[in-house]
Amino acid sequence: MSTESNRILLKHHLEKLRLPTVRREWEAVAASSAKDGRDYGDFLFALTERELIEREQRAAGRRIKSAKFPVIKNLEDFDFGAQTSINETLVRQLATGEYIEGRENVLLIGNSGTGKTHLASALGFTACAQGKRVRFWSATTLVTHMLEMREQRDLKRFLAQVEKHDLILLDELGYVPFSKAGAELLFEVISRAYERLSLIVTTNLPFEQWTEVMGSERLTGALLDRLTHRVHIIEANGESYRLKDARKRYGNSRKREDDPAPGTPRRPTGSSGVPGAKPDKQPNT
Ligand code: ADP
Ligand code: MG
Repeated sequence: MSTESNRILLKHHLEKLRLPTVRREWEAVAASSAKDGRDYGDFLFALTERELIEREQRAAGRRIKSAKFPVIKNLEDFDFGAQTSINETLVRQLATGEYIEGRENVLLIGNSGTGKTHLASALGFTACAQGKRVRFWSATTLVTHMLEMREQRDLKRFLAQVEKHDLILLDELGYVPFSKAGAELLFEVISRAYERLSLIVTTNLPFEQWTEVMGSERLTGALLDRLTHRVHIIEANGESYRLKDARKRYGNSRKREDDPAPGTPRRPTGSSGVPGAKPDKQPNT
């Protein structure tokens, strides 16, 4: 068989075997291996390594896409110097992903603009790169979606999908109070997640105000019990990064910018309000 027909067959085999990187790069790698006098083993190693790296990158890209982050945020872009109330050591330790292995949760508590969503998304993004299945939800969107799923008698299937994840992000819990049915569905998700997968929750509410959002003291107690069983708490008590940024740009013409926006619940203080849940202590079992 001629070399040329072998090449055509090789291309076909590599397609069949789903090795696009090998298909694309084998000739260049073969030429450089020959030039450097490397043996067949080294040639095959270099080629398969490229295939593997690209495959992992493609898979991470798919995981990031299916996580549905509203915007991509990285830990490298977070200025810890601008928000000194945040425990940087804890955030960096969380970025190793160990908490996901242990099915532990993360709670980011603090007032608006302090980087909670940024940090939560960055941890989610890192988890995708580490091979984890992640999903970002705004808390209200999740509850609305679940109400719809229930209406369509699809809730069981949806909850089964939830359980397939390694990490679920629930963003901005507390901005909008839930209906009774909504609060019960949120509780359902948190119960399903308990000890099966990790949750990262961002909220502007100190624990003692969660009842106002959930509507029922009993439900709030049961929810917090699960959420805070093994939890890492990051408190962000500083000034809004947006405001600080705007002030820098438009000069220091302070009016009443430090006041919370209308309707913003009061900022949490040092203690998170749940017995046994110490701020920035991990994990709290
Ligand atoms: P929160 O969720 O606490 O309301 P966000 O995470 O949405 O705050 O932050 C608001 C904006 O400011 C985002 O664009 C975020 O990337 C940026 N930001 C906040 N804190 C920091 C920080 N310390 N370093 C860099 N960017 C920040
Ligand atoms: Mg936010």
